[in-house]
Amino acid sequence: MWSDRPTMSSTVLALDVGGTKLAAGLVTSRAELLCRAEIPTPETDDPEVLWSAVTGLVDSVLGQRGDLPFAGVGIACGGPMTWPRGEVSPLNIPAWRGFPLLERMRARYGIGLPVAIHNDAVCVAVAEHRWGAGVGRDHVLGMVVSTGVGGGLLLDGRRIDGASGNAGHIGHIVVDPAGPPCRCGGRGCVEAIARGPAIAAYAAEQGWTGEASGVGVARGAHAGDAACLGAFDRAGRAVGIALASAVAVLDVELVAVGGGIAEAGAVFFDPLHAAFREHAGLDFVRRCEVVPAGFGRGSSLAGAAALVLDGRGSVSRFWDVDWSDPD
Ligand SMILES: [Zn+2]
Repeated sequence: MWSDRPTMSSTVLALDVGGTKLAAGLVTSRAELLCRAEIPTPETDDPEVLWSAVTGLVDSVLGQRGDLPFAGVGIACGGPMTWPRGEVSPLNIPAWRGFPLLERMRARYGIGLPVAIHNDAVCVAVAEHRWGAGVGRDHVLGMVVSTGVGGGLLLDGRRIDGASGNAGHIGHIVVDPAGPPCRCGGRGCVEAIARGPAIAAYAAEQGWTGEASGVGVARGAHAGDAACLGAFDRAGRAVGIALASAVAVLDVELVAVGGGIAEAGAVFFDPLHAAFREHAGLDFVRRCEVVPAGFGRGSSLAGAAALVLDGRGSVSRFWDVDWSDPD
């Protein structure tokens, strides 16, 4: 039985479930994507319609692989979820509320194999640590700034999960108590200011009439539009302030920031670094480097695979497997 653990093969079937796209692929221990497929997330209220889209996508990946075996199944999904049970209720996917994604994936693709799930931002953090900007670092916060703001934490070289799997979830640090309402029910969270839709809304308030999206505002900022630059300045500063607090709590040596908003580059990172320097007083906080993520696109898929390759977390252990199922 033990011979069937991940050492059998270094390739993992990985699935990434997001509000805008579903991606699946086979990922090697060197983060090579052997097969990959991606489709837009269907707009549906029916949980089974969405599940059918997932299985169609995964089947198409497995159809490309020939006889290549895989050693386990790793899943990245938007939160929240019950963890480690993996019943998911992604904010951006209303069709799934308490959907048993881990169990469904295990039953269909992972019988006899380790199957693991985590928040997509945690997967990004794991990929950054294993293959990206965090290589060689033991104390890393990985962060995603895109439609939402999330993160994951590694201390002493290992992933930290916390009581509910949400350790490192930096998006709901309050940076302005009088700030805008947040999707979490709070007010003035860094996510409420730095997420793409918030950047677009603020730019529009300031007179931007171009494309109302984070990417559209990034283009405007690069072209020198004052409203767009102001929106990125506000977002970058919010993240810098949040990090000054978070790093003081966590004592990480490196923060890797990825996601569509971070990809805007200096218009985001310059105000971030300025605010971080202003608010970080203690030496150990000031020494922390805040850098762009190094892995690039596909990091949540790779990180999902790393959940299995690392052999930790919500892996359904062999003695939990229902061997009576002939599939
Ligand atoms: Zn919040």
